[in-house]
Amino acid sequence: MSADASRRAARAERVDRSAGSAPAAPHRAEAEGRTAPPGGLRKRTTSEGRDLTRPPSPEPLPIPLYDNHAHLEFEDGIDQLDPLDSLDRAGAVGVRGVVQVGTDLETSRWSAQLAQSDPRVLAAVALHPNEAPKLFAQGCLSAQLSEISRLAAQPRVRAVGETGLDFFRTGEDGRDAQIESFETHIEIAKANGIALQIHDRDAHDEVVATLLRVGAPERTVFHCFSGDTRLARICNEHGWYMSFAGTTTFKNAPALREALTVARPELVLAETDAPFLTPEPYRGRPNAPYLLPHTVRRMADALDEPLDTLCERIAANTVRVYGSWDPDAAAGARNPEPAAVGDSA
Ligand SMILES: [Zn+2]
Repeated sequence: MSADASRRAARAERVDRSAGSAPAAPHRAEAEGRTAPPGGLRKRTTSEGRDLTRPPSPEPLPIPLYDNHAHLEFEDGIDQLDPLDSLDRAGAVGVRGVVQVGTDLETSRWSAQLAQSDPRVLAAVALHPNEAPKLFAQGCLSAQLSEISRLAAQPRVRAVGETGLDFFRTGEDGRDAQIESFETHIEIAKANGIALQIHDRDAHDEVVATLLRVGAPERTVFHCFSGDTRLARICNEHGWYMSFAGTTTFKNAPALREALTVARPELVLAETDAPFLTPEPYRGRPNAPYLLPHTVRRMADALDEPLDTLCERIAANTVRVYGSWDPDAAAGARNPEPAAVGDSA
């Protein structure tokens, strides 16, 4: 075990003790069993025609920050990168922590477990909007939402997500279940005083309408922000965070970069959504949190802003939304101070 891993294990042990929970201190070997959900890492289904070699590590960022949305339970590509190795590789280029996001009960449970055992991870738990109609049809949506609610109370679960609306993959007949599931997730986030991570695909207006109807949590994040300047202004008005993903680097996304320039600086976050949405110049290849610097550099470029200034601000914004990653600061970290957000639009 490296010195670094020993230190992490020692810190994880302190967390376990302070939380009064049973699990023994995980060191790397013991933790192996936790590095994948039951049944192993999930495979990405779309490998046809893609270059499956893993891109090299970019130059490290000058100031460390966080990837606030990734799915480490997926394997993709020719060479495997297990979740702990992925975190090591991210840390080496200045991506010091990750929000690991669940999409169903199994991955949500696993996300919570990984966050408990590794100080570089915080968890988000939810049933994905495209899962909701299927679960409703099977008659188990409300039982599973109750379980998400239970998971959301854990100290290192700092967001409910990804939830929201997806009118691209879910047709008319699934919308009622999707909206009902989204509303319940919003209530769970509010009841626990944690952030909300929204998946919004081709559903901007209905997402906004739902947030306003139900009442948005204090810290609401549009994950993989896909809106234009109009939606960015709506987010500005309500103090909703906008998380920019690899799509920001795509040649065909000038509208997204324009939205970034409109977004209030204190509401901007960055993410990979790994293993999806790999940033340029590696679009289509396997994604992982260590590739976040490509997106952040493109953001600095679009904003015409020094890279270190942007990194510093993204790091501060991220901790304001999710609290501290540091297990030693865990006591006060779950409900960070209200956003130091200015009034100006
Ligand atoms: Zn995602």
